Amino acid sequence: MRIPVIISGGGLVGLTAALLLRAHDVEVLLVERHGGTSPLPKARRFNTRTMEVYRQLGIADEVERAAADLADFQAMRAGPTLIESQVLPGPPAGDVSDLVAASPMLPCLCAQDALEPVLRELAAQRGADLRFGHELAGFTQDARGVTATVTGPDGPYRVDADYLVAADGARSPIREALGITRTGRGTLGRATTVYFRADLGAAVHGREFNLCQLDDARTPGALVSINGTDRWQFMTDVVGVAEADWPAHLRRVIGLPDLGIELITVQDWEPTMKVADRYRAGRVFLAGDAAHVMPPFAAQGANTGIQDAHNLAWKLAMVLRGDAGPGLLDSYHTERHPIGLLAAEQSSLRSGDLRAPTGFGSERPELVHPFVLMLSYGYTDGALVPDGGPPFPTDRLELVGRPGTRVPHLWLQPGLSTLDLCGTGFTVFSGGADVPGFEAHPMLGLDHDEVMVVRPDQVVAWRGRARDAIDRVLERLTGRMG
Ligand SMILES: Cc1cc2nc3c(=O)[nH]c(=O)nc-3n(C[C@H](O)[C@H](O)[C@H](O)COP(=O)(O)OP(=O)(O)OC[C@H]3O[C@@H](n4cnc5c(N)ncnc54)[C@H](O)[C@@H]3O)c2cc1C
Repeated sequence: MRIPVIISGGGLVGLTAALLLRAHDVEVLLVERHGGTSPLPKARRFNTRTMEVYRQLGIADEVERAAADLADFQAMRAGPTLIESQVLPGPPAGDVSDLVAASPMLPCLCAQDALEPVLRELAAQRGADLRFGHELAGFTQDARGVTATVTGPDGPYRVDADYLVAADGARSPIREALGITRTGRGTLGRATTVYFRADLGAAVHGREFNLCQLDDARTPGALVSINGTDRWQFMTDVVGVAEADWPAHLRRVIGLPDLGIELITVQDWEPTMKVADRYRAGRVFLAGDAAHVMPPFAAQGANTGIQDAHNLAWKLAMVLRGDAGPGLLDSYHTERHPIGLLAAEQSSLRSGDLRAPTGFGSERPELVHPFVLMLSYGYTDGALVPDGGPPFPTDRLELVGRPGTRVPHLWLQPGLSTLDLCGTGFTVFSGGADVPGFEAHPMLGLDHDEVMVVRPDQVVAWRGRARDAIDRVLERLTGRMG
């Protein structure tokens, strides 16, 4: 078969990439070696920017429905046991109101095993060819395209594609086959996650929590809400405890000696920080954990991967349509590699200790403000024309329409954000004067004679006064001009 884009991997990043490509009307085949989506909850915190991506896809309501179980579970708690725990102070109220004002969306807590089936169903509804139980067994590429061998239940078959997206996880067989090296701090410790079933609904009522740090002398760690009623995780850096002993440890840290506990899985794992040195090799693009792995303490892994897909999808679509030259695809590595490094490095500087500074104050200046990691990081080079201004601030959320940053959010009318104006092409925001051939949107503090060109991924590409420069800017951005 022949298809414009084949995706290997049906996790959060592969499924989101499939949805994004379909939004750009690109035919896509996704192969996933497992028969179903992940049975493990892993990621739970989906940040504001990720929710903006889902809003743009028109699926935020479905994602929020999947997140309904944990809607009241936002607080962090700590104590000797869950029963004795107290709520920890949240982020500074002023910072939170800045975040709320900066976006049409709020972050969302939803276990990965609840989200992936929703994305899978929506991607299938929107015409992605999803083949679970099919494995990408190998591939070659040349100037004309990629040839993949996929093994399905009926044996191997050949797929010819223009491009291959490797969303095939931390061990990425595609990255390995390409010989792409990774750089980073490597393994940063050891940890155990105990996933278990226990009817804690009544005990948790009035003590709802996202994470609850438990200062037990023998197995200190954090209790993690999965569905808020009967599924929970306990994460600790104490490894080597026999499975048979876990129920007793869990009853003790929870503070309920008679609690019935059924272990689902006990997994030892190693928090690791490694970032691929190249995100692109010819017609193959790494996204998600294939491109970067990081400790989970800043909740960045899946979010960064979803935003990789957001960055890549419109570029692939434009090149496939012939609206941009293949050079546009180089900007994927140029833009996303520094962000992968930033997210991975910042995740490595944080720990599972919920009382430790997280970057909201000035106690640890090396920590970037969490809302910058979430929303206001910027690209300094790539498919944009930098403004030559000072470096983007890392100690506060700031979105003022500088090239490389997400376009500022303003409510134009109830339910309609400036972000909602960004579609599959470039959008021109104008300070008021007419822009021939474009719909003008006077807003965003633009001077009367100023215009702003915004990309389909809602990132400002250029801002300036010379309206007659727009054509040249677009040609430069899309690589159609030398
Ligand atoms: C305890 C924990 C907590 C976390 N919490 C958060 C959080 O709160 N927020 C956050 O953003 N991130 C979090 N993360 C990280 C997050 O889970 C990962 O970053 C994310 O799941 C990566 O998604 P992915 O789609 O890139 O990779 P994966 O989910 O690993 O998916 C890759 C898929 O590719 C498939 N595959 C591999 N090879 C092939 C092949 N040859 N053919 C076909 N299919 C193939 C695999 O079967 C797999 O399904 C957490 C991680 C852990 C461990």
